[in-house]
Amino acid sequence: MMPQQEDPADPAHHRVDSLKESDAFHDECGVFAVYGHPEAANMAYLGLYALQHRGQESAGICSSDGKHLHCTKKKGLVAEIFTKRVIKDLPGKMAIGHTRYSTAGESNKLNAQPFFVECNKGQLALAHNGNLTNSIEVRGELEAAGSIFQATSDTEVILHLMARSRERNLKHALRESLLRIEGAFSLALLAKDQLIVARDQRGFRPLAFGKLKHNGHDAYVFASETCAFDLIGATYIDDVHPGEMILVSKDGLVREPWAPALPTSHCVFEHVYFSRPDSMVFGRSVEDSRQMLGRSLARESPASADLVVPVPDSGVSAAIGYAAEANLPFRMGLIRNHYVGRTFIEPKQSIRDFGVKLKLNPVQHIIEGQRVILVDDSLVRGTTSRKIVRMMRQAGAKEVHLRISCPPTMSPCYYGVDTPDKDELIAANHDLESIRKYTEADSLAYLSLEGLKESVHDRHDGYCYSCYTGRYPTDVVGIEQLVAEHRQKG
Ligand code: SF4
Repeated sequence: MMPQQEDPADPAHHRVDSLKESDAFHDECGVFAVYGHPEAANMAYLGLYALQHRGQESAGICSSDGKHLHCTKKKGLVAEIFTKRVIKDLPGKMAIGHTRYSTAGESNKLNAQPFFVECNKGQLALAHNGNLTNSIEVRGELEAAGSIFQATSDTEVILHLMARSRERNLKHALRESLLRIEGAFSLALLAKDQLIVARDQRGFRPLAFGKLKHNGHDAYVFASETCAFDLIGATYIDDVHPGEMILVSKDGLVREPWAPALPTSHCVFEHVYFSRPDSMVFGRSVEDSRQMLGRSLARESPASADLVVPVPDSGVSAAIGYAAEANLPFRMGLIRNHYVGRTFIEPKQSIRDFGVKLKLNPVQHIIEGQRVILVDDSLVRGTTSRKIVRMMRQAGAKEVHLRISCPPTMSPCYYGVDTPDKDELIAANHDLESIRKYTEADSLAYLSLEGLKESVHDRHDGYCYSCYTGRYPTDVVGIEQLVAEHRQKG
């Protein structure tokens, strides 16, 4: 069954939640950490500001003054939560921060991060990007043994494991806990006198490591993306390696493996869509990858056309690459309104496709009478693409050739990206021609898997492509069932 049209009579649609980009894979979370800076909370605030695109649901910062942790987390955007006054109440030279889009656990304030606990290991705060694939099982065991959980997020499992560990040393307790969990995690753990960051053994989610000079002293910074370093003037040094933990304390910085690295499975969607183009992710420029995606797409699927138009913002770089390779003009024939809030109350008089129109507007004098190649970075349910194709035709496009700069998305993600269920993924249930008809495009083409691999320079199978192939690098048998059971239980 093709996706249903929105029913304007349905009161649920009067609140235009389509502004939350329901027809897309959702961003996951952003993590930031700093050690050794007198304005640590301010650095975390700026870092989170740069990482806002990774999660707009809630944000939080925990700092340490060497004796106690101080935390603030709330629903909302970074700029809304962290006023000067709030930041003043986050003293100390160490801080961790988090921006969240829920990928596991319900969307509520209790699930906002960093998680803070006071346990036999002292005060601890934890910020996590990723998704634990065995969290339901481990949580069940912990609950059976008497643990009481405050929230539904998988991240809390790590803190409970640490609290139960007989290891007194924090590093050893963390290592023991990490050995018990499976899946994707890039995390930052803050105690009163030390900061530890760690990454899972396959390196699903990014975590970069940098340095910042302040009055002749070195401060260390860690972030999901290097764009956070640029804002605070930090220098990128390296990635935290898969299976590695980095400890920073008064004794200096120590890098060591917490477990052996496994063959890497970097999330390729970071390059296709999630990360900012001005970031280096997995050691490679996202902008370069996106332009290469467009070039590969142009070579694989050319079309007779007059110009190339991106679906902004995330389709822009791929469209630039496509236009350059195809030797066609690149034009901003669709303009995005950047000031649309997260929700909007629809006026009484219903306007068709209102949600998309609020965000995107075609530039008629560019499009009218033209054969347009429309480049987008993904086609998940297909509903938004159809609206955009219609919008282009209404603006006078003679032909619309839809080009998608990644392969068809066929399977859900279990590694920290919020994806629709398989039955909602249009490519998992329909052939190319049916999807083309549904989107009402004159032609439709996706980038091939080989084209994607080539574009991110993946010569050693170092990336995860599971949402395109349905082949997972870790054991996920039974996860779907467990997730469904857990949802039913509430
Ligand atoms: Fe990324 Fe897709 Fe792999 Fe998830 S399944 S980690 S979204 S490539």
